[in-house]
Amino acid sequence: MYKKADSHSINPPNKIGATSLANLALDFDGVICNSVEECLRTSLMSWISLSKDLDFAHAFQVLGDSDASARLRPHFYRLRPWCSTGSDFVVLQALVSQTPDPERQELSGRKFAKYRDACPPDRIKAYREVFYRGREFLCSSHGAWWMEGNNPYPWVEGNLQSLASNPQVIILSTKKAGFISAILRAWGVEWPSGRIYEAGPGVAKSHVLQELYRVSRNYRGNWILIDDFLPHLQEAQHLPFIRGIHAQWGYTLGVQTEPTIPAISHQEFIKFIDPYLAGPDLTRRHTPPG
Ligand SMILES: [Mg+2]
Repeated sequence: MYKKADSHSINPPNKIGATSLANLALDFDGVICNSVEECLRTSLMSWISLSKDLDFAHAFQVLGDSDASARLRPHFYRLRPWCSTGSDFVVLQALVSQTPDPERQELSGRKFAKYRDACPPDRIKAYREVFYRGREFLCSSHGAWWMEGNNPYPWVEGNLQSLASNPQVIILSTKKAGFISAILRAWGVEWPSGRIYEAGPGVAKSHVLQELYRVSRNYRGNWILIDDFLPHLQEAQHLPFIRGIHAQWGYTLGVQTEPTIPAISHQEFIKFIDPYLAGPDLTRRHTPPG
């Protein structure tokens, strides 16, 4: 069981007792964007390219001519909650492709993690590189098809532009910021690129927030991090100025739970973000640029 986020536990002010509205960091995939289909398409094409030694144009053609996406989709969707970075998606493709069809249904998050942890670092590096190069290729050469796999969650969509206008709200993702900007633009949302932060490989999201807290006068307050991937929230638990909240929609679907971290449903989220839609908290002073 996960700890239900009651109105007291999810409402700012946060645990160190500030009276002003906390800064808000939103994860992108699984909180703002449902990109599971895009990750399936990109990782499968990248895996075909890598495993068959084909360039992306040919791998894309092979993918289009096969029913591989349809066959793999249920397994990919089921194991998606355990993926965090680009390399994980290719690990998932490798694992599924190497598992005989009748046994694929038995693949679990635990088996996935065990398989990934046994992969040598140079293989993980190759998976990461092929995934991001594959994503660049699809985004630039088959942009409309690629973009179809990225969809805003309905309870976020109508509020995104208001959130984008509030300097207290940032996006913090392991996805490359350029892709996030491209997706938001395709949705018609103008989100300042300076407020899209990337936690690259090996960098904890809590570390990014810690740096913002340390170097930016505007962000030297409390933070709330809403994320669907528990390890990102667990990493932040030891920092007194960050409160993590687990988003209960998208990929997790209740499969990951942690009793010490409050959870938030999409209905609660709509109420939660309401104070952020009005613009920056005027009790805080934001330094003008320059
Ligand atoms: Mg996520």
